[in-house]
Amino acid sequence: MNSDSLQHKGQRRQLVEQLAQKYPFHPHILKAMEKVPRHLFVEQGLDHLAYLDRPLPIGVNQTISQPYTVAMQTHLLGLSKWDRVLEIGTGCGYQTAILLELGLSVYSIERHKTLYLQAQKNLHALGYHAVQLHYGDGFDGLPQFAPFKGILITCGIPKIPQSLLEQTTLGGRIVAPVGEEEQTMTVVTRTGVETFEEQTFGAYSFVPMLHGTR
Ligand code: SAH
Repeated sequence: MNSDSLQHKGQRRQLVEQLAQKYPFHPHILKAMEKVPRHLFVEQGLDHLAYLDRPLPIGVNQTISQPYTVAMQTHLLGLSKWDRVLEIGTGCGYQTAILLELGLSVYSIERHKTLYLQAQKNLHALGYHAVQLHYGDGFDGLPQFAPFKGILITCGIPKIPQSLLEQTTLGGRIVAPVGEEEQTMTVVTRTGVETFEEQTFGAYSFVPMLHGTR
């Protein structure tokens, strides 16, 4: 099924209530999660699982993040309307849609051609056109559009590269799951031209960030 229904809307509301019980997310985040039809971003045949708080396959060995993780990473970005954000790992485009619903100026990179095209299709079908999707290697960031107030990494990275640190504004943040097998959700804030502050927010498990495109 490629449409939204009352049943899906009901399931979405329930999911959002569960998320709100787990953490006091800002109403704007909950509203965005209630609006975006996650079942239209997952693999065909899995839409009945789309409103469970769990990751799901999106093809080519990748996954759409768990809704709680999407809400938490969005929360940790701490951005306001119009702020410029770079997402690394577009995947199916679900997290991208949440950022767009928050009124952010969104740039997103995906290294997998199939997913880049799928995300484009998913987002356009839902009427999200004001988004900059890029096919490329997120390790490089998008220097031509920097600086970003927020950089959101949606795959596990062993260490945040200098190239990305340099693409944040003063006061800007990178939210990233840092680690190899398991990751620690990490927020790095740029406090000066060459100074950064780091905070951590618990353990997560993400697919790894890989070099190059395919
Ligand atoms: N935000 C996505 C999560 C997708 S999973 C969603 O809502 O569905 C992480 C994604 O990161 C995968 O699609 C993977 O292909 C991508 N990825 C991994 N390494 C990357 C890199 N170096 N540059 C860009 N994307 C990368």
